[in-house]
Amino acid sequence: MAALVSASLSSAQTTVALRKNSFTPAQDVQVGQRAATDARRQLPMLNDGPTDAFVERVGRRLVAAVPARFRHSGFRYSFDVVNLREINAFALPGGPMFLHRGTLQAARTDDEVAGVMAHELAHVVLRHGTLQASKAQKFQFGALAGQIIGSIVGGNTGQIIAQSSQVGLGTYFLKYGREYEREADLLGAQIMARAGYDPRHMANMFRTIAQQGGGRGPEWLSSHPDPGNRYASINREASMLRVAGAANTGASFTSVRSRLARIAPAPSAQQLARRR
Ligand SMILES: [Zn+2]
Repeated sequence: MAALVSASLSSAQTTVALRKNSFTPAQDVQVGQRAATDARRQLPMLNDGPTDAFVERVGRRLVAAVPARFRHSGFRYSFDVVNLREINAFALPGGPMFLHRGTLQAARTDDEVAGVMAHELAHVVLRHGTLQASKAQKFQFGALAGQIIGSIVGGNTGQIIAQSSQVGLGTYFLKYGREYEREADLLGAQIMARAGYDPRHMANMFRTIAQQGGGRGPEWLSSHPDPGNRYASINREASMLRVAGAANTGASFTSVRSRLARIAPAPSAQQLARRR
């Protein structure tokens, strides 16, 4: 047992393989942009300058740290904050990422915010959205943007976007499989370390999310199921990674958190769904 542990500690990081995808990266961008337009129309955006700037800064730093073999030069990254209470986040093919305000308010450090975002970014660069959609072969490319949202935005948030989707969203609320989740955790941890964030904080944030489960379960877990031993697996990967520098800002995240605590609380996705 001891030999196994030391062997894994001294070995390199886990290799995440690229999967064969029947869509082109340009199609990822095309469907992702259409789905993002729907999401921005249907969800309440926070539109708070300093908060958006903070999230944008973390996002850009992570994108710059994506390993070369996972980069797609045509991807169009954007980072929006949704004014909803739940801890949640989702990212669409080709780059658009949406982070719920509840995630910022539940995180203790900016490494924890970066953890959720790095996981989402890993789904984007691994092109899990179109891989997932291509499993449902009855969907034509034209209906794909809707299918994408149905595939990767779970729970109430997904349903809100679906209600008046311009792109023909069906009722196919799938979720990422455990294998995609495992890959996003591992590659997300690697991206974090390269960007200067401590990947162990991704594990901490996911534990916070799991603990907030309660009766209905957190929204985030409805689209990002635990692949099994999530906390231990991320920490095992983290132990093999060298964190490049210190991206954690401390003060600027504290200032974002105190801003958010002062403005009116965000509605829950359920409250928002009931109002419509
Ligand atoms: Zn995920």
